[in-house]
Amino acid sequence: MNNFKTIIGLEIHTQLKTKSKMFCACPNYPIKNAWVKEYLEKKTVDFEFVEHEYVTRPINSAKARGVNISQIAKALVYICDDEPVVFVLPGDRKLDENKAKKVLSCFALKMATPDEVLSATKCVVGLVPPLIDGVKKVVDKKLLENDLLSFNAGIATAGIKINKDIFLKLLDKYEVGDVALDELTVDKPSEEKTKIEEEIPNTRVCPVCLGMPGTLPSTNVKALELTAKIGLALGSKIADVSWFDRKHYFYPDLPKGYQISQYQNPFCIGGSIQIGNKAVRINRVHLEEDAGKLVHPAGSEVSYVDLNRAGTPLAEIVTEPDIESPMQAKEFMKELRELLRSIGASDADMEKGHLRCDANISITQSSNLKTQNDDSKLKKSPIVEIKNLNSFKFVEKALALEEKRLREDYNLWPEKQTKITRGFNSNSGETYPLREKEEAKDYRYFPEPDIPPIELKKLIDLEKLQNEINRLPQAVRGEFIELGLDEQSARLIMKNKELVSAVEQIKGKVTLSPKFLKTLINEKSAHRLSAAQLIDLAKMIEKNTPSNLLRRAIGEASESGKMPSEMTIEETDSSEVIDKVILQNQDAVEKFKSGKTEVVGFLIGQVMRELGGKADPNEVRQKLIEKLNED
Ligand SMILES: [Zn+2]
Repeated sequence: MNNFKTIIGLEIHTQLKTKSKMFCACPNYPIKNAWVKEYLEKKTVDFEFVEHEYVTRPINSAKARGVNISQIAKALVYICDDEPVVFVLPGDRKLDENKAKKVLSCFALKMATPDEVLSATKCVVGLVPPLIDGVKKVVDKKLLENDLLSFNAGIATAGIKINKDIFLKLLDKYEVGDVALDELTVDKPSEEKTKIEEEIPNTRVCPVCLGMPGTLPSTNVKALELTAKIGLALGSKIADVSWFDRKHYFYPDLPKGYQISQYQNPFCIGGSIQIGNKAVRINRVHLEEDAGKLVHPAGSEVSYVDLNRAGTPLAEIVTEPDIESPMQAKEFMKELRELLRSIGASDADMEKGHLRCDANISITQSSNLKTQNDDSKLKKSPIVEIKNLNSFKFVEKALALEEKRLREDYNLWPEKQTKITRGFNSNSGETYPLREKEEAKDYRYFPEPDIPPIELKKLIDLEKLQNEINRLPQAVRGEFIELGLDEQSARLIMKNKELVSAVEQIKGKVTLSPKFLKTLINEKSAHRLSAAQLIDLAKMIEKNTPSNLLRRAIGEASESGKMPSEMTIEETDSSEVIDKVILQNQDAVEKFKSGKTEVVGFLIGQVMRELGGKADPNEVRQKLIEKLNED
């Protein structure tokens, strides 16, 4: 029987979180507000650019950040019978598509794709300026001249402030007609719909990253520091002396004709990441610059080159061939992403191309167990390298495909082990052959003459860096698991930095029961509680306080800053007072039961008076009605 063993090694490129590119001063990240500037030059409306999170985060979070909720609004671009329409709505509302169809007298309504937004608005995809010529508008431009709005284009973000009252008035006055405003709300676009903000090509370039003759690179020290930090977090050895090499190849997205990379002397050597019981060894971490990208517009006879990305700093992390299954490869990628994020080295966002993976897979087989220790007798499949995998799912899927194919092709394995390079088409879910992989000698590596050798230890305070990364996500998660949480819940807590630091603060001062930790995960507003409030909350949980009361206590404590347990006392108080008022006003109760429901108002008044006006009348009403219907 065939005895197969899968061998996988990964090469991961991660875009480092630095302000500027690797060897010049151009910005490392897309200029998000490019259109805003452009707009400001042409229009006179005074607005303020609002950062991403303000608009896309849920209302509760906005509250926590002190954002005035009345200022949150969204603009969604829809295609209505093939014609683009912009909806501008308060952020906490949903767009009822059926009603919208009625208002616009259209049959087919769908959210615009990024391309459709672009062609409709001539705007950077995802960012829609307030006045869009030639687009049918639900809201008149007057709305926008009144110092309004926060914007969400349905795909991404941007923001302008708007006063809600003016906004609603305008919305009322123009075109919304008989649709009640309260019925209009906006769907928060799902993560899948949130596309990378595109930017104008070749706007983040300079003579250095354009590869002009006579320019000289100057090294971005922050990128060196982040590379060292990755090495330290992985347990690598930091090289005493290291240098950059030129890697030569010709491609239109590489204007210099070579890439500045590292060949024999990377900054970091060795290290490992633990995946379950398995330690996946790291071979090296080196630093290099990214190339630009080619753009092939559909139907066009020419291709274009965009060099915005050229020269951005990439750390390349290379593993040893220690990974044993496609699933383990995916786990490794997830673990690495968490590590990169926790040390602040990279956003490691695969969707935005911050984390890309080349995966190498081969299979060995021995038909005779006796020969297993003799490596030379093992039959080896070709090594297949799958290039540029940009999602966890694709890493696993592409590797699983190749694993299956290599096993099935067992009889075709050549005597001498070969290498094959393949690409992965995420649309068809298939791999396809690419050019033959170059050997190192094809690249004619030689030391970069314009940058002197680098002694990281002299340039960077490694001890300080080490102190910053002493607690890695794996360790913190391990502690949560020891406290009795399951792995999934531990990962959930880890996603929220504030929560992790809150829990760290109160550790040892109170029992961190799984129920307590789960409450923290489930109740978003608990993330804003102070250490003292959390301790108080943990004690309430120890006393088996019912979860509906806990929820209320957390909500109120997060708003008022009081102790959660104080809140529950008020809660019980109001229940007691209601009971008392019902007892003392039996004739009103009789009236209510005979159908005269308006007496509820009188009873609410009595309760509120008893409570000194401290309760929420709507809640009192609700509870009163519940009690009255109970008997
Ligand atoms: Zn540049």
